[in-house]
Amino acid sequence: MYKSKAYSAASATAPLAADMIERRDLTDQDVQIEILFCGICHSDLHSVRDEWGGAVYPIVPGHEIVGRIAQVGSDVTQFKPGDAVGVGCMVDSDGTCPQCKAGLEQFCPNMIQTYNSPDKYLGGMTYGGYSDSIVVDQRFVLRVPPNLDLAGVAPLLCAGITTYSPLHHWGITKGKKVGVVGLGGLGHMGVKIARALGAHVVVFTTSPNKKEDALRLGADEVVVSHNMDEMQQHAGSFDFILDTVSAEHDVDAYLNLLRLDGNLTLVGASPTKLSVAAFSLIMGRRNLSGSLIGGIAETQEMLDFCGKHNITADVEVIPIQKINEAYDRLVKSDVKYRFCIDLASLKSE
Ligand code: NAP
Ligand code: ZN
Repeated sequence: MYKSKAYSAASATAPLAADMIERRDLTDQDVQIEILFCGICHSDLHSVRDEWGGAVYPIVPGHEIVGRIAQVGSDVTQFKPGDAVGVGCMVDSDGTCPQCKAGLEQFCPNMIQTYNSPDKYLGGMTYGGYSDSIVVDQRFVLRVPPNLDLAGVAPLLCAGITTYSPLHHWGITKGKKVGVVGLGGLGHMGVKIARALGAHVVVFTTSPNKKEDALRLGADEVVVSHNMDEMQQHAGSFDFILDTVSAEHDVDAYLNLLRLDGNLTLVGASPTKLSVAAFSLIMGRRNLSGSLIGGIAETQEMLDFCGKHNITADVEVIPIQKINEAYDRLVKSDVKYRFCIDLASLKSE
């Protein structure tokens, strides 16, 4: 075991603060990563404030990790010290269930999340990327394309794969009309990836001041969602809508914009229940579905796709000392478009 610097939350109401945590010694299958950047996902905030229930404190959040390999275990052949790598939302799974065999580790009943899951090595819970170092099984380590900026890559490990996976699964290609609801961390990645897949992209936002950015990020059209006339112009026209909203909202308003057999996929994880009118689905044989991050092979595929298309997140890089301020801004949808922690700032703690 060795000590690592981190920021943790001691309770649902405590601010995040400097802490020391333990990391395991390397097994033969492990790599040790010096963490350089970690994106701030709204899931970190939901977890820290226990908005979904089930939080165990202290929590060290962070599942958009990018860093360099510091050391490798004796059976590690795919990575060597100095390699730029990423770790996303998962650090382990059983590897034997049908979901793991299908490359869908995120749905493994024994999947271990990067933070706030039982830690089979040290007891207690796993600790995430708001830290200067982490030890991870090589099977859950991703390769970063060499042409991409590391701070901008970090958010791909969650926001990137969470939007890439459903767009892929539901067959988005050139000529499809795709809506993206909510222009935050996930939403802005959804826009970039849907655009790169050749879709016609329409952003729905509650923030009129994000209109120009939405177009710059790759949207063909922007709708301010409280403008009923603008909404109505798109009625019955979408092949697919990706809903990234982090709070309760009117899903029916978007279902009604789908065409025959259209699909609305929820990735936003509102802590409160969403309601759906039966007729929003019955009319037009519409589909409502959900999606959770993506498997490991698909995450590598997404990173390679982003490398090829030169896609990274638009990040506001912050020192970790500004984390509580960043959380307060996230609640107000005031993010352009992902906060990313520069872990070099932990050295002064
Ligand atoms: P974020 O950066 O805070 O973006 C969420 C966006 O939703 C906001 O920027 C805002 O966009 C819109 N929004 C927020 N509150 C709203 C409200 N009350 N009504 C309507 N729109 C609202 O969050 P994120 O990191 O992208 O995460 C989004 C959600 O996805 C979170 O719930 C997170 O936990 C979840 N998530 C799920 C997965 C998965 O695997 N399914 C993975 C990661 C995250 P506008 O200003 O444009 O309206
Ligand atoms: Zn996330």
